[in-house]
Amino acid sequence: MKELEIASELRRKEPLSDHTYLSVGGVAEYFLFAESINDMIKSIEFAREMGLPFYIIGEGSNVLFLDEGFSGMVITTERMDRITIDDVNCFCESGTLLIKIIECCKEYGLTGLESLAGIPGTIGGAVRMNAGAYGTEIGTLVSSVSVLKDGSVVQLEDVHFSYRESSLKGEVVLKVTLSLIRRNKKEVSENIEMIMKKRRGIMSEIPIDSGTCGSVFKNPEGRYAGKLIEEANLKGKRVGGAWVSMGHANFIFTDKTAKSSDVMDLIRLVRNEVERNSNIRLKTEVVIVGKGQEIEI
Ligand SMILES: Cc1cc2nc3c(=O)[nH]c(=O)nc-3n(C[C@H](O)[C@H](O)[C@H](O)COP(=O)(O)OP(=O)(O)OC[C@H]3O[C@@H](n4cnc5c(N)ncnc54)[C@H](O)[C@@H]3O)c2cc1C
Repeated sequence: MKELEIASELRRKEPLSDHTYLSVGGVAEYFLFAESINDMIKSIEFAREMGLPFYIIGEGSNVLFLDEGFSGMVITTERMDRITIDDVNCFCESGTLLIKIIECCKEYGLTGLESLAGIPGTIGGAVRMNAGAYGTEIGTLVSSVSVLKDGSVVQLEDVHFSYRESSLKGEVVLKVTLSLIRRNKKEVSENIEMIMKKRRGIMSEIPIDSGTCGSVFKNPEGRYAGKLIEEANLKGKRVGGAWVSMGHANFIFTDKTAKSSDVMDLIRLVRNEVERNSNIRLKTEVVIVGKGQEIEI
């Protein structure tokens, strides 16, 4: 078998439940902690030559891997987290945590990102998902994104963003440049604290030791998925080790016994009941990944 010569850590048969916030999912045949762009390039080349599928994750806060696991290589960017600031531009490797970037903004007096304070995950995941909160979507702050194309690094300046979507689906995001605005540090810090206060309310509903991916469904135009789920009387509904939150109904929690199939069955049940009750078919926000690729349900 071909040897993969890289400095980054590569594991075999790695449980994906250890790398996702829902804490469910089977085993990845290969699991790479990419530490450099070079290792990322070599590993993807290796996977391609071996005929293996590959899938990139950040912190796994918005991904649901199935119980069957992933038959190829899952690559996490979480060890690629260098960040530099130049005037109003923030250059981040894709595995940089949002929280780390927001801390830098506080330190350097840069405004723009405060509404996203408290969202878990990396900047790579955030731009792919066009993460947003309290009226701000990350896409509005992105000036360029470097991706991997045919073994070379290519800079994209025309990324398209829409509600919890971007044209980066299927791309390998390596670096992100954010364009921010100078403000005094105190103001930035106060904005962050105000948002964190609001967030703490929602976060305090998450039971200790449970898994969650945040909002499971996207809000349909003009409606709130959580309200539709509540109206269908689904708060607290349980399948195996997964249940609908008694608070914010668009959250599903998992306990230590949960399997992906519990979460999947609950997602289908909620979607069907909401459709029966309100005639609206919910679409998932959480990204579902099967044996070799993302799947739509
Ligand atoms: C408690 C909680 C609260 C949350 N609140 C919010 C919220 O308020 N608003 C919001 O928008 N989201 C929220 N989320 C969802 C999630 O945190 C965001 O979507 C986050 O930006 C995902 O980042 P990640 O690094 O964890 O991505 P992952 O979950 O690892 O991946 C998500 C998607 O991005 C892709 N991806 C990740 N990194 C890369 C890369 N480098 N290149 C290409 N593709 C990549 C993956 O393939 C996958 O399709 C919440 C989640 C939780 C658990």
